[in-house]
Amino acid sequence: MERVLIKNTAEYLNKNVKVCGWINNCRSHGKVLFVDLRDKSGILQTVFAGNDKDLYEKALSLRPEWVVCLEGTIKERPKGMQNPKIETGKVEMEVEKMEVLSKAETLPFGIDTDGYEINEEKRLEYRYLDLRRKRLKKNLIGRNEIIYFIREYLKKEDFIEIQTPLLSKSTPEGARDYLVPSRVHPGKFFALPQSPQQYKQLLMVAGIEKYFQIAPCFRDEAARADRSPGEFYQLDMEMAFVEQEDVLRITENLLIALVKKLFPAKKIKQIPFPRITHKTAMEKYKTDKPDLRNNPEKNNSQPCGASHDELAFCWIVDFPLFQEQTKDDFFHGAGQKLAPSHHMFTAPKKEDIKLLDKDPLKVRSCQYDLVLNGVEIGGGSIRIHDFEIQEKIFDLIGFTKKEKEYFSHLLTAFKYGVPPHGGIAPGLDRLIRILLGENNIREVIAFPLSGDTRDLMMDAPAEVEKKQLDELSIEIKKSKK
Ligand code: ASP
Repeated sequence: MERVLIKNTAEYLNKNVKVCGWINNCRSHGKVLFVDLRDKSGILQTVFAGNDKDLYEKALSLRPEWVVCLEGTIKERPKGMQNPKIETGKVEMEVEKMEVLSKAETLPFGIDTDGYEINEEKRLEYRYLDLRRKRLKKNLIGRNEIIYFIREYLKKEDFIEIQTPLLSKSTPEGARDYLVPSRVHPGKFFALPQSPQQYKQLLMVAGIEKYFQIAPCFRDEAARADRSPGEFYQLDMEMAFVEQEDVLRITENLLIALVKKLFPAKKIKQIPFPRITHKTAMEKYKTDKPDLRNNPEKNNSQPCGASHDELAFCWIVDFPLFQEQTKDDFFHGAGQKLAPSHHMFTAPKKEDIKLLDKDPLKVRSCQYDLVLNGVEIGGGSIRIHDFEIQEKIFDLIGFTKKEKEYFSHLLTAFKYGVPPHGGIAPGLDRLIRILLGENNIREVIAFPLSGDTRDLMMDAPAEVEKKQLDELSIEIKKSKK
């Protein structure tokens, strides 16, 4: 007999069906045993009435979270016993056959609550159980809906989704790289991409014109508010022959359409999204991530959209091209005073190019940030497509000849006909977090790393066999005690 999903069982009134899933709970009422069965689609009340003694006895041993397969007749529940709150609340199954597919030990924590009250480390250690929780499953489904919508929308807009390599080269781009040793080329290393920035620019040289990717990005840096340590996902986009206005428009239209379709109850405070210059934002709000909601939630350490449905987007534009380098900047040109505000491929405003030598900190750039409810959800820029200006920026941030060589592929590519181009990369985890009304990005990621960059479920990072290190010609230094 073919399996029927629980949510569809009401269509099989007085018919015999088979359902499979996990035991949600068991309740014994005299000689009748009620067992709620759960699958990905819902919960069904099943009844073992005691007329088949063997079956009834066997059912008494059932425990929560066992995986079973039940066959029986779908019946209308007696009046007064119906539960209007769930889809299958009007029916129940009179079980005739049962097969136990696997037993389960008592779970380390309950999964029938929203889970906020449970120690997070425990939840991450047993994430596959935590994900059985209704709230988290709903979040994963919500995430999928958002990503699916984005893919469809951008395809209609003529974008091509292209996967760029994960094994790439370490280049001094701003954050610390994750390195991957090469076995075939001892002593050499790949790096995981901090973002597909250079690839997407090279795709513009390749004539792709409209690119996007749901891109994993890797940065070896401490957890930041709203960014997973280690890895996170971006909606990475790049377009040729565009100006700032075009990038803002396409991003804005995509987000408005997404909210209207998937979150109709939410209200976007202002359309078009207000644009605020960096200078005004700093003067007026003392931050480049202003929270423009009517009722920002002040009692949270992180701004969030959890308790009401207001979405206050805004653009911050006209950033300074450079900022003073801080000790957190991870530049090979360390010791230099200037660091790019966004990244080193960001174009200076045409009218400010003349200030590059005289007063670089005064130069404004074609960088734009998208802010939602006080959270920066993405940044982008129009890029430099002039070989000489790119070299000049490298000089200003203090790159040596050798450091410039890390980017020789890009500079070479720019000699073969590069269209003007620009893009943006909204951080998906944070956007999804706000849209789904969560306070923490880990709630919208299936298997997140902990705040101190560990996978508590897999127990990673972990030591490896000496043989593996030998193959890589790597020796681990004994740590000084
Ligand atoms: N690659 C940039 C980042 O990760 C975004 C962009 O400029 O498109 O911040």
